[in-house]
Amino acid sequence: MKIVLASRNKKKKAELQALLAQYIEGIEILSLDDVGIYGEIEEDGNTFEENALIKANVAASSGYIGIGDDSGLEVDSLGGAPGIYSARYAGEHGDDNANNILLLKNLEDKENRTARFVCTIACVFPQKENREPIIVRGEVEGRIIDEYRGDGGFGYDPIFYYPPFDKTLAQISSEEKNAISHRGKAIHALAQKLIQTN
Ligand code: IMP
Repeated sequence: MKIVLASRNKKKKAELQALLAQYIEGIEILSLDDVGIYGEIEEDGNTFEENALIKANVAASSGYIGIGDDSGLEVDSLGGAPGIYSARYAGEHGDDNANNILLLKNLEDKENRTARFVCTIACVFPQKENREPIIVRGEVEGRIIDEYRGDGGFGYDPIFYYPPFDKTLAQISSEEKNAISHRGKAIHALAQKLIQTN
């Protein structure tokens, strides 16, 4: 089974390949570059699901199964912000340090620190298959703490405290993170649905 992932990120591609291969033998993940789709995809949806679907549709235009994902952090006392704007919360896309500083500033007077990471994955089938898209969501619940702990992971991981481990997500290995993370759960759910419907 060949699947095109709507991303140019080699790490993301390798991660998805490794995780899905555990469930589906012979699966091959291709990137947009591998199938000659170039240019930026405009993620202008209003939800994680809409953005994932926009990306998956672009990937599926290759003629193969297309997968798109969108993820982010929802903080309850901020009404779910930064949400779909997680990567560019402080303005510049992917400036993790500025995003963390702004988040802690906005939480200064907030007692409630509950938050969750959300990952949505959409899977769109080639037109000729005439199949409904698959959309799955994974979540991991935690709390935003005021100090940075750990140097693993990325993004908001150093300030995202996960109570069952008494650690932040930056203090655990990638294997441990995959087992409990929003992304790990969403990929697991996707694999189950792909197996069921094949
Ligand atoms: P993307 O969907 O992978 O582009 O992620 C969007 C943004 O959400 C990232 O830039 C991070 O700021 C945040 N994010 C998503 N997943 C994680 C995670 O596992 N740890 C920390 N931050 C994350």
